[in-house]
Amino acid sequence: MSETFTVITGAGGFIGGHLAAALCNRGERLRLVDVKPLARWHQPPPPDAEALTADLRDLAACRRTMAGAGAVYNLAADMGGMGFIETNKTACMLNVLINTHLLMAAKEAGVRRFFFASSACVYAADKQLTPDIPPLREDDAYPAMPEDGYGWEKLFSERLCRHYREDHGIETRVARYHNVYGTHETFDGGREKAPAAICRKIAEAKLAGRTEIEIWGDGEQTRSFTYIDDCLRGTQLVMNGPHAEPVNVGSTEMVTINQLVTIVEEIAGVKMRRNYNLAAPRGVRGRNSDNTLIAARYGWQPATSLRTGMEKLYRWVYDQVASQRLP
Ligand code: NAD
Repeated sequence: MSETFTVITGAGGFIGGHLAAALCNRGERLRLVDVKPLARWHQPPPPDAEALTADLRDLAACRRTMAGAGAVYNLAADMGGMGFIETNKTACMLNVLINTHLLMAAKEAGVRRFFFASSACVYAADKQLTPDIPPLREDDAYPAMPEDGYGWEKLFSERLCRHYREDHGIETRVARYHNVYGTHETFDGGREKAPAAICRKIAEAKLAGRTEIEIWGDGEQTRSFTYIDDCLRGTQLVMNGPHAEPVNVGSTEMVTINQLVTIVEEIAGVKMRRNYNLAAPRGVRGRNSDNTLIAARYGWQPATSLRTGMEKLYRWVYDQVASQRLP
C-alpha cells in the first residue's frame, strides 16, 4: 500500500465509480471527488475511501483535492452522448478549467503521475466521413479538426498534459477512450450514449407492450464499443506504463447502429419497428479504433465481445427501468 493517496476525479460517474472499486480491491488508498452530492453517485464509494464533493473547475478545490496525492486519474468532465455534446459545446469546452486547474495543483503538490481520459472525439472529422472508414490511428488526430466543443477541449488538454510532462516532469498519461459502455452508466435523462439508450428504449417498449422504437439517424453510422472491464484494464496499463503519448483504448469490433439494435433485440427476445429520426444528433458517419499501438506497447486487446457486454448492460438497464415503473 502506498503512503500517498490516489485521487480519482469524476468518481461519482460511470467509469470513475468502476475504477474506484477496482483500485480499492488492489488495496490503494483512495480520495474520490465529484461535483455531484454523494447520494447521486452512480456507485457508493468503497468503505475505506475518502469521498469529497467539489467543483473542480475551481483552482482552490483542485488544490484541496491534490494535497497528499501521489497519483491522479482525472475522469471528471461535464459530458454525455451525442445528444448532450452537440448541444452543450460551451459546457464541454469549460471542462478545460477542470483539467488546467488540476494540472496546476498537481504540479504544486508534487504529484508523480497524472492520467487524463481523452476521447475518440479528438480525431479529425474528415477521417470519419463514411461508414466503412479505416480504423483511427493515433496520428489521425492531426492536422486537427476534432469534434466541435468536446473534442477541441480534449485535444487541448492532451497537449497541456504533454507540456506539463516536458516542462515540469509530471508523468502524464493519456488514453483515448472509444465509446465505453457497461453497468452503472447513464441510461436516461439526455446524457446517455447509444448502447444504454438502445437498451432503455427496448426495455421500456417491452415493459409497456409496445413494438416500436426511435433510432437517431438512419442507423447506418458505424461505431465500436468498449466494455468497461476492458477499459479499466487498459486504463491501468496506460497509467502505470512507460509510454506518455496518447493511445487508443477501444474495441475494433465495428458495427452499424442498426446491427447494435439487432443485438439488443436478440438479447431481449423482441423485434421492434424502427422509426428513424433523421433530424436527431448522430455524430460522425463512421468510427473504429486502430489498436496496433496499444497492442504493441502493452499487449492489450479487448477481451469482451460486444454481444457479451451488451447482455450485461441490457440486463442491468432492464432492471433499472423495471424498478422505476414500480409504484
Ligand atoms: P460520467 O459523466 O459518468 O462521469 C464524469 C463525472 O465527472 C460525473 O460524475 C460528473 O458529475 C463529474 N464532473 C463533472 N463536472 C465536474 C466538476 N466541475 N468537478 C468535479 N466533477 C465533475 O462520464 P464517464 O463516462 O464516466 O467518463 C469519464 C471520463 O472519460 C470523462 O472525462 C469523459 O470525457 C471520458 N470519456 C468517456 C467516454 C465514454 O464512452 N464513457 C468516451 C471518451 C471519453
